[in-house]
Amino acid sequence: HVYTPDPTRYASMDYVRCGTSGLRLPQVALGLWHNFGDLTPMGQMQQVVFTAFDNGITYFDLANNYGPEPGAAERNFGQILRRHLHAHRDELVIATKAGFEMWEGPYGAGGSRKYLLASLDQSLARLGLDYVDVFYHHCMDPETPLEESMGALATAVTSGRALYAGLSNYDGPTLERATQLLDAMHVPFIVNQNRYNMFDRTIEHNGLKEATRKLGKGLVTFSPLDQGLLSDRYLHGIPADSRIAHDGRFLHQSQLDEKITQIRALNDLAQARGQSLAQMALAWLLHDEAVTTVLVGASKPEQVLDDLTAIDNTDFTQEELQRINEITGA
Ligand code: NDP
Repeated sequence: HVYTPDPTRYASMDYVRCGTSGLRLPQVALGLWHNFGDLTPMGQMQQVVFTAFDNGITYFDLANNYGPEPGAAERNFGQILRRHLHAHRDELVIATKAGFEMWEGPYGAGGSRKYLLASLDQSLARLGLDYVDVFYHHCMDPETPLEESMGALATAVTSGRALYAGLSNYDGPTLERATQLLDAMHVPFIVNQNRYNMFDRTIEHNGLKEATRKLGKGLVTFSPLDQGLLSDRYLHGIPADSRIAHDGRFLHQSQLDEKITQIRALNDLAQARGQSLAQMALAWLLHDEAVTTVLVGASKPEQVLDDLTAIDNTDFTQEELQRINEITGA
């Protein structure tokens, strides 16, 4: 069947400037870390992508190692692109990353020029693209000189393989040093991608959030629902089709057990606001001026739709913000 995007897709989404750059990103973006590997039926993946695009989501987030198997998410998304979204390439911001372990041997992980540029070429081949919109260094590599990793990002851009550079999982001081290096090479470095949600406040403490704002960079926040814990998914047990039950690589029952009391209290607060917990968790991030985009994952189209409605109410009273901090111990 031929997919025709919804002609009203740009009607309700807000597009926020990514830092001080010229690129605007949707307030809600879709990540393909889970649910886009070879265990998920192609029809399900397509429906999630179509629902996202039909509702104004233009940013799709990948990495070399997303799967399983590593590489599968890029290959599957590449297939969807080729079959259904080819004509809309210029409406899409497609991001990928390299940094974590991808292939065997000394050149398959880290921050070396050797690894980063080879990995980007592999990603482009899997995606079937000439260039990605954003290429991120996926994580800090203290064993490689920052000059070398940033030089590889510069080459990625000047060689036409990427339009913009990004950094992921960096801290404030390293971000500042990286920015100096990238500025000196005139690299369009515009975005940081970090974990940020009501439970995980790391970037409030490691200088990243503050530095992002000061340097005029965008902030894409990943796992905004703490992988699904910050939703009604697990309020009444562990559903068979949930990430905890069917995946188990990165989310375990012990993490749920630890937080279930807090999750219930947050759910009560969300209900009092007239929102689902997922909506409140996303709205809480979007309320923050430092945040450009919340980067959600989804196993079903309905989740994408639920997450999108978070945009409708991002106002919080001081009491609500304080209550969230009390519940989460922040
Ligand atoms: P989330 O915190 O948004 O968790 C997504 C999961 O939450 C979904 O798979 C689904 O779980 C559940 N969910 C989503 N919406 C709802 C809803 N409305 N109601 C109930 N449950 C819901 O994000 P992820 O952890 O998936 O991360 C998002 C993206 O961030 C990744 O795909 C990736 O692109 C990026 N990322 C980047 C990293 C980095 O190092 N740079 C690291 C991790 C992620 P279920 O599957 O159980 O249905």
